[in-house]
Amino acid sequence: MSRVILEKYGGDLTWIIDSPLDEARKALLELPGVGEKTADVILVNLGKPTFPVDTHITRISIRLGIAKSRNYREIQRAWMSILTPDPNRYLEVHLKLIQFGRDVCKARSPRCDVCGFKDVCNYYMSNVKTKTAQ
Ligand code: SF4
Repeated sequence: MSRVILEKYGGDLTWIIDSPLDEARKALLELPGVGEKTADVILVNLGKPTFPVDTHITRISIRLGIAKSRNYREIQRAWMSILTPDPNRYLEVHLKLIQFGRDVCKARSPRCDVCGFKDVCNYYMSNVKTKTAQ
């Protein structure tokens, strides 16, 4: 990646800061090893209006029913349509969802008993609530 940045951009990627989102994203995605999540993490930290989706956010989105598939763009669009269109808000919610996924909506054993989303969560309604009612 360093070689590509040196050869293609003279070692300087600071122009990305002032570039339009799509242009900056395209340039980042062309770098070896940079996928959609990494590109969006860089961009939202630079104040660009994008919402990075990681494995925690994917899992939470599907459990809550915000997204129907693991498709990156679908999940990203879903959150961006819910949230105030503000890069700071996107970054804040992105980070809080990751923490929520680590602490509460864990991959193996989600702590639904302490979760405030129980009443609106598809996973809870169809897996946990149904079983505890039996
Ligand atoms: S109720 Fe359970 S599955 Fe639903 S968001 Fe909360 S912890 Fe995750």
